[in-house]
Amino acid sequence: MKINSSLIRVACLAIGYYTLPLNVLAQQALPDLGAAQATDVDNQPVASATTFAGGVSVNALAFLKEDNIDVQKQAKIVASITVDPKDVGQIADIVVYVSFANLDNQGNPALFMLDENGEVFPWDFDPLNLVPFIPQVKLQGTQQLDIYNSQLPEGKLQVFFGYLLADALIVNQQPLDIAVEAIPSIIQDVELEEPELAMEIDITPMLSEEADRLVGQLGVRWPIGAVLKVGFDFTEAQFEEYPSPVCLGGMAKEDCENALAEQVITYASEWSQYGNLYFKKAAWDHSDIRIRFREVGSYSYIGTNAKGVSRDQHTLNLALSFLQTDRAFKRTVIHEFAHAIGLLHEHISPNIAYTWNEEQIIADMEQRGWSADKTRSNIIDNLLTRHSKSAFLTTKFDPLSIMIYPIAKQWVSKADLADPERCPAAETTDYYCVERGDELSERDKQGIAQFYPRREKQGNGCSMTYDPTEYQAGTPNWDGHRGLIVFNNPTSNELKINLYHPETLNRQSWSIAAKKRARLFRKGIPFEVNMAWGIQVGESPICILKTVSTWDEENKTFQTSTSYMPGL
Ligand SMILES: [Zn+2]
Repeated sequence: MKINSSLIRVACLAIGYYTLPLNVLAQQALPDLGAAQATDVDNQPVASATTFAGGVSVNALAFLKEDNIDVQKQAKIVASITVDPKDVGQIADIVVYVSFANLDNQGNPALFMLDENGEVFPWDFDPLNLVPFIPQVKLQGTQQLDIYNSQLPEGKLQVFFGYLLADALIVNQQPLDIAVEAIPSIIQDVELEEPELAMEIDITPMLSEEADRLVGQLGVRWPIGAVLKVGFDFTEAQFEEYPSPVCLGGMAKEDCENALAEQVITYASEWSQYGNLYFKKAAWDHSDIRIRFREVGSYSYIGTNAKGVSRDQHTLNLALSFLQTDRAFKRTVIHEFAHAIGLLHEHISPNIAYTWNEEQIIADMEQRGWSADKTRSNIIDNLLTRHSKSAFLTTKFDPLSIMIYPIAKQWVSKADLADPERCPAAETTDYYCVERGDELSERDKQGIAQFYPRREKQGNGCSMTYDPTEYQAGTPNWDGHRGLIVFNNPTSNELKINLYHPETLNRQSWSIAAKKRARLFRKGIPFEVNMAWGIQVGESPICILKTVSTWDEENKTFQTSTSYMPGL
């Protein structure tokens, strides 16, 4: 059985159970949970007149038998058992167990049981292995239980409780049903001049395989419309040996570093001219992409893999020796930032056309210090040896891409050399089938516009628009890239907005004035949320959106970007 560590971790915070005074419980109306599910040691049903009540309460509100709880809230779970008269006076173990499923995989729940210290253990559904929540109780006519009073882990929980006699297990037939998730709250901030809701027809075609270029790995794509923060650390930069072309003679070291950082952002932003993704310089500790300048080649983590890199480590390296001319500087930055936003090498495209001369490539690269393995995984092995094609957004192969390595004539077959689609440089150069590109190719531009589209429509009646001119870098109140959600149905001034979790469709409602801008965050506590959610205005269709929020400690503000997600 798979043990959910978050459940265990959170549950360990609960310090056992305690018994409420009876008069307190008596004042709290507990929902009826119906009759018993009573089984003998062979799991065969037996008759029982025991009945159950119980509920979950947040913020001292009423106890409910079904609830949708914010993962940050304390959940109090209490229960009451009206014991079958024939069992009263018998010695039994009081037991509590929970069926737990991840919100995104509810079809596969696991069972856990609570022991007398409130600790959680996996349970195999064998009554003989069920640890007591309260051992060896002489059953009263009514048994009151205080089951839990702490935060719950994110997921779908069903709570069962009851008692275990020597020959039977008696538990509630109808469980407490609790969904726990991160529920964002909305605040209203900036007043707008014009209501943002309008009729709009979006004629942008759906993502089409034929239109795509480049090799974009979908699983590591940043949210569309995101502003990625880029941090710089120059401590290992060897400016003496490799002076940068942007650092003029006599320039102070700090000015030189600033000029270099600015130039990096400028070149990286070539992608932003065509794709809906932006870069800005930021403090190291708050950056999505962290750059060092070490003389060990240039490289980058692919896309959101960078989020798994510890804060003191860099996610992208630019060797100054790669940046010695304006051309090389630009080429290198555009190429490495492409990796940083989820793009892979074009020459390992699933649609690769070449017949590789493997021995020659390995021998040539060996001269440059590459192992055969490294050469295979960087040049020869097609991506399809490691991934399925559906993991990528791509079709036609582009020998002019900024993401292709230069390819020597001796690396490919005669048939490749004769085909200008595969070897455009073969006619005009002595050595190359494909020359190194310095600029974005036309297909690069088209490809990034598909991978990070500016405007999309799912065809379900809602659409979301981003206007890059609306982005205001460095403003404390709104530092995300903001967008306009357009619904096809008419709306009134006062909007009823329902937020949905896309899998469970659990719902939260807010009223919000049409002229106000809404920003998502959770009150008071720094947090990071990266979630998909749905939004519905009135009776409109549900739009699925992607929100990323981070707490900016420096500016004491949340930075949120929300974007419409294709394919959800
Ligand atoms: Zn590369």
